Amino acid sequence: MKKNELLRSLPSVDELLKLDEIVQLQSRCARTTVVGWIREAISEQRNHILAAANLTDQQSDAQANTCREIVERVLAEADVDQGQSVQAVINATGILLHTNLGRAPLAQRAIDRVRQAAGFTNVELNLSSGRRDKRGRRVMDLLSRLTGADDALVVNNCAAATMLVLRGIAFGKEVVISRGQLVEIGGGFRLPNVFESAGVVLREVGTTNRTYVRDYESVISENTGAILRVHHSNFRLTGFVTEPSIDDLLACQRPPGLPVIDDVGSGCVCDLSEYGFAEPDVRQSVAAGADLVLFSGDKLFGGPQAGIIVGKQDWIDRLRKDPMMRAIRVDKMTLAALEATTEIHLEEKTWSDIPLYKMLSRSLEDLRSMADEVRNQLTGPGADAGFQVDVVASQSQIGGGSVPGVEVPSVAVVLKGHDLDAVAQRLRTGQTSVQARLSQDAIWLDMRSVADNEVIALSQSVVAALAPVQ
Ligand SMILES: *Cc1c(COP(=O)(O)O)cnc(C)c1O
Repeated sequence: MKKNELLRSLPSVDELLKLDEIVQLQSRCARTTVVGWIREAISEQRNHILAAANLTDQQSDAQANTCREIVERVLAEADVDQGQSVQAVINATGILLHTNLGRAPLAQRAIDRVRQAAGFTNVELNLSSGRRDKRGRRVMDLLSRLTGADDALVVNNCAAATMLVLRGIAFGKEVVISRGQLVEIGGGFRLPNVFESAGVVLREVGTTNRTYVRDYESVISENTGAILRVHHSNFRLTGFVTEPSIDDLLACQRPPGLPVIDDVGSGCVCDLSEYGFAEPDVRQSVAAGADLVLFSGDKLFGGPQAGIIVGKQDWIDRLRKDPMMRAIRVDKMTLAALEATTEIHLEEKTWSDIPLYKMLSRSLEDLRSMADEVRNQLTGPGADAGFQVDVVASQSQIGGGSVPGVEVPSVAVVLKGHDLDAVAQRLRTGQTSVQARLSQDAIWLDMRSVADNEVIALSQSVVAALAPVQ
């Protein structure tokens, strides 16, 4: 066949749309999307023909399958698209706050509240007076009550909170920070860049490992707008290290009214010492007298993605009026989830009602019986397909850029056999998606991050991934 003939033999979009597989595809994907994929596939095929210098007989034969190839290409696009959709995933990685898996799973109470808020809701209306009210007023009240602060603000995430606070409090001025705290939080969020974007001047003091209160005192001048302390959440400094505590910083010699801002990051409001974690407690910073304390909603607070700012009334009032605040405020569903999560902490039901804490506090015996249950479901198909299935001791982590280096004992189901990458891919793309951990030439399904009510779905997914229907 000549090139021209081949080009003329390319099917039209309309012809392709009538093929059974493409008709079926349109029941789950928008027609315009499918048409887009078809156009791209045809155009690629056309370029392919044009690029071939001399068509050999073999290539020419292959062109008879043009239609088939285009359909395959379109179906592959649909698969990729499907894989990108936001859907439920069983987290069997053993990393409890997994950033790629949406960090903290919400408490049931928070999920129920999100559902209610999804329709019309009184987010800015006082039902008792019938008047317009401060947006999400009760959430701010609950957060103040929980942390002991005068007032609170909620923005999109803690990164946004840092921006808002630096800009709103110290625009055009110097902000003093220890060289040991000039961190990158993740996803390229680096404090020196944040300072620049926020329009404040970075005034670094001390050294990477040692900074003293006198270092701060020696640079404070009329140009100073604030002192910032940032918790190094995702790494640990050990050895020859000195860093002033928040109490030390608050006691430093400074002009009256110069604010001390504490970015504590993970938002811990309960005692984790029994697990060997020394995370800064939000309430301690507030009690110490920090002017503003910032933390994430979806790390150790166990709620939705949010940046929470609590602190002294004057500063919060000032930030509330900042135009930037309007740009980074949260939606009604986030407020609803945060309200429910804060209620749980206030009622001291953290350990029983917040999934993160339920997962963290489960006994090894419970985890072992979950793992045994999974293994029992697998032994048949796993063995048939030539896989070895074992229940072994494992180590889980908190993750989410918090509490680095601390491991929590756990139990895992370990699968050994052939084509593990393909098995892991089938686990991710199956009926119920499962994210496992690949390590030491095996697939690890760590039970600490799996909820009790996910065991059956997890087992089914693993059965299907080990013995795929051909
Ligand atoms: C995680 C973290 C942030 C960023 O929080 P996001 O809610 O992820 O934006 C900021 N500061 C500290 C100290 C953190 O640990």
